[in-house]
Amino acid sequence: IVLIVNIILSFIMSFYAAKKPKKLQTSLFNAHKKLKSFTAIIDKYVITATTKPNSTILDVSTAFEKSSGYTKSELIGEPMGIIKYKGRDKSIIEELWTTILSKQTWIGEIQNRKKDGSTYWLEQHVIPTLNNKQEIESFVSIGIDITAKKELEKLATIDKLTGIYNRRRIDEFLQIEIEVAKRHSQPLSLILVDIDHFKSVNDTYGHQVGDEVLSKTTQIISQNLRKSDIFGRWGGEEFVIICPQTNSKEAFVLSEKLRTAVENYKFDTVGNKTICLGIAELNNGDNEDTIIEKADKALYKAKESGRNRSVICRL
Ligand code: GH3
Ligand code: MG
Ligand code: MG
Repeated sequence: IVLIVNIILSFIMSFYAAKKPKKLQTSLFNAHKKLKSFTAIIDKYVITATTKPNSTILDVSTAFEKSSGYTKSELIGEPMGIIKYKGRDKSIIEELWTTILSKQTWIGEIQNRKKDGSTYWLEQHVIPTLNNKQEIESFVSIGIDITAKKELEKLATIDKLTGIYNRRRIDEFLQIEIEVAKRHSQPLSLILVDIDHFKSVNDTYGHQVGDEVLSKTTQIISQNLRKSDIFGRWGGEEFVIICPQTNSKEAFVLSEKLRTAVENYKFDTVGNKTICLGIAELNNGDNEDTIIEKADKALYKAKESGRNRSVICRL
């Protein structure tokens, strides 16, 4: 009886024992299938690249090919610099290398260049992968295309015709710069610029020529400013310059430089044009509105006293 029971039990147990590997095999197969479909999705939608530590490209995803305009075979073996946009902010790239060489992940926004020369923006994660000896083996980059977001940001802050800051952005800058100047007890000046008799340009030569004069005037002023000056279009044919760490005397020198630069320039079609500049320095009691008001008063005086002039508000 014992023998028979033993044999029966062995049969039952071996039946279940045989079933287990099959179950395992099925779940392994399903997991593999799932992984494959995820990998396919990632390959299609996520912009990824793997590079050697010297930045030679080892592999890229289909999404990377699509966003860069290069095929996989054109990319593999090339340096990552193949998609480098020359106008990139160099300090960002330096920060990227410092971070990843210290074996940390870098996250930031990068502007790249497509094969056709156009540019695109990526929010990029660059992850160093390490070998057993804890040495950098490769870098894995994962990117999300944020070109549309960047375009919107630009539209919200940049004046379309002149390419300089719009009034909204200037308002934000002014608030920040006034706060900084007050906190550090530093001088700050504001200059309002207005083109003289601009209406007659439009009336005589048309709006298009008027637009060209506005763009050219913007260029002339930009070329004569310091990096720390903040330049924007206040509206119509009026501009504003925020000059941090600058008193009204220094701002007057700058204004005269701008005034003569415009005065001496010969515009296409319209010939010579002039500008008036109103200068105001920040006082303790001033805020965004009052400093603008003061510059506006000075500008009015410049117009009143014959145009083509720089005037400091003495309030
Ligand atoms: P003033 O010397 O007193 O400053 O005279 P003005 O003619 O320059 O000043 P006014 O304020 O009478 O005219 C400004 C003109 O600027 C009127 C408007 O049609 C023109 N304007 C405003 N924005 C634009 C623009 O974007 N493009 C062009 N072409 N003209 C513009
Ligand atoms: Mg005006
Ligand atoms: Mg004007």
